[in-house]
Amino acid sequence: MSVRLQAAGKFLCIEAFIERMERMTEHTIKTTSSDEMINITSLVRQDVKKAGITSGTAVVFVPHTTAGVTINENADPDVVYDLLSIFRRVYPESGSYRHMEGNSHAHAKASVVGSSCTVIIENGQLQLGTWQDIYFCEFDGPRTRKVYVKTIGG
Ligand code: ZN
Repeated sequence: MSVRLQAAGKFLCIEAFIERMERMTEHTIKTTSSDEMINITSLVRQDVKKAGITSGTAVVFVPHTTAGVTINENADPDVVYDLLSIFRRVYPESGSYRHMEGNSHAHAKASVVGSSCTVIIENGQLQLGTWQDIYFCEFDGPRTRKVYVKTIGG
């Protein structure tokens, strides 16, 4: 404690530096279908720009058990169409499930795509491949959902 008091000015500087380099944004997404994939790359790019980070990482986290996030192709919208179609075939809505809520298919899909993705930031830009974008994945909509974006510099 005494060290902290003696160096109070220095600690304040460090805390201010960390605050500038780390930032979390909460986004609200209103989905309109039972299942859909929504391109959220522009939201994440805005967060990186606002954070002023030139080098670091962006973590996109979805705090839900029947929704998720994934990175996939941005050029041909049929890829997203096919992915949703594959998910429906592999995890059908009706089945011999035990979960009382009746949305086990959505829980399974959410587990497959996962709750987070991490993208490297370099030169102030997300280092996504040419054909990559970030997609919020709704599997039990329509609902109002949240997406957290944490940008970390350094
Ligand atoms: Zn459930």
